[in-house]
Amino acid sequence: MVICLGIEATAHTFSVGIANSEGKILANSRDMYKPEKGGIKPSEAGEHHSSLAAGLIESALKEAKLSAKDIDIVAFSQGPGIPQCLRIGAAVARALSLKLKKPLVGVNHAVAHVEIGKLATGCIDPLVLYVSGGNTQILACIEGSYRILGETQDIALGNCLDQFARELGIPHPGGPKIEELASKGKWIELPYVVKGMDVSFSGILAEAVRLLKNGAKKEDLAFSMQETCFSMLTEVTERALAHAGKKEILLVGGVAANKRFRKMLDIMAEERSAKTFLVPIEYATDCGANIAWTGLLVWKGSGETKLQESKINRFWRADEVNVTWL
Ligand code: AMP
Ligand code: MG
Repeated sequence: MVICLGIEATAHTFSVGIANSEGKILANSRDMYKPEKGGIKPSEAGEHHSSLAAGLIESALKEAKLSAKDIDIVAFSQGPGIPQCLRIGAAVARALSLKLKKPLVGVNHAVAHVEIGKLATGCIDPLVLYVSGGNTQILACIEGSYRILGETQDIALGNCLDQFARELGIPHPGGPKIEELASKGKWIELPYVVKGMDVSFSGILAEAVRLLKNGAKKEDLAFSMQETCFSMLTEVTERALAHAGKKEILLVGGVAANKRFRKMLDIMAEERSAKTFLVPIEYATDCGANIAWTGLLVWKGSGETKLQESKINRFWRADEVNVTWL
C-alpha cells in the first residue's frame, strides 16, 4: 500500500490531506483564509498559508495516526490558481519531499476535484459541472483525456454571486446568503448570456448592480440572478450531456451547495435518464484530500514530477493534463 500526503494551496484554503492507494482518506486538515473585507488579497492569502503550513502538516499526520516516515509520496496543487498561494504550497511540498527523500507529484486542481468526486460518490464516467468561487467549467473524459466542453468566458459563477453580495455589504463568501435572499424574491429580467457552449456572468453582475443602484429590491435581484445564471448552466450542461453521451453528472465546487441549482439540474437529468451525484461537503471545496488521492493516481500513471518540472502553472487547464491513470 502506498500513502500520499497532498498539499492544497490554490486560493483561499491551505490544506493537508493524506490518502492511501486503497482509496481511503486518512486525514484532511485545513484552514481557510477569510479577508476582513473585500475579496481575496493574494499577498494576505500567501501569508496565511505560509504561517499555517507546518501546523497543518502536523495535524494531518496526527489525524492519520502516522509519522512523517510513513509517507511515500508528497503531492501538491501545481495549478491553476493564485500564484502567491500556489508558490507556498509548492515550496512546502518540495521541502517536505527533499527532507523525507520521497517523490514529489504535481497535481492539477480541477482534475483533483473530479477524481475525489468519483472516489467519494462511486460514479464512473461522469460529465462534471465544476462551479466554485474561481472556476466554472463543464468537463468530461473523452477518449482518455479531460475535455472542457463549456466554461465561463469571464468570471466564475461563485465569484459573480460573491461580488454581488459584496455590493449588499455581505461578507465573503456571499453565495449562501444570496440563496437565502433569493427565497423571498420575485423575477426581474436580466441578460441571459449563453454563447455556444460557453457562458458569461460579468454582464449579468453589472446589470444587477446597476438595477440595485436604481432601487430594485435585493431579494428580487438575488432571485433573478440565481434563476438566470443557474438556467444558463443547466442549458449548457444538458447540451454537453447529450454531446458527450454521458449518463452521470458530477457536481463539484461550493456553488453546488445551492438547493435551487441542484433542483434545476435534477429535473434536467431526470428528463434525460441521467443521474446527478453531489460530492460530500468535506471534499466538495478545496482540500488536501483531493490532492493526495489524485497524487496517487498521477504517480501510478506517470511517476514523479522532477524538481526542475515542479514550477507552478497558474493557468494549467484540465485539458492540458496527461491522463495516464484511466
Ligand atoms: P469553492 O471555491 O469551491 O471553495 O466554493 C466557494 C464558493 O461557493 C463561493 O463563491 C461561495 O459563495 C459559493 N457558495 C457556497 N454556498 C453556496 C450556496 N448555497 N449558493 C451559492 N453559492 C454558494
Ligand atoms: Mg476548487
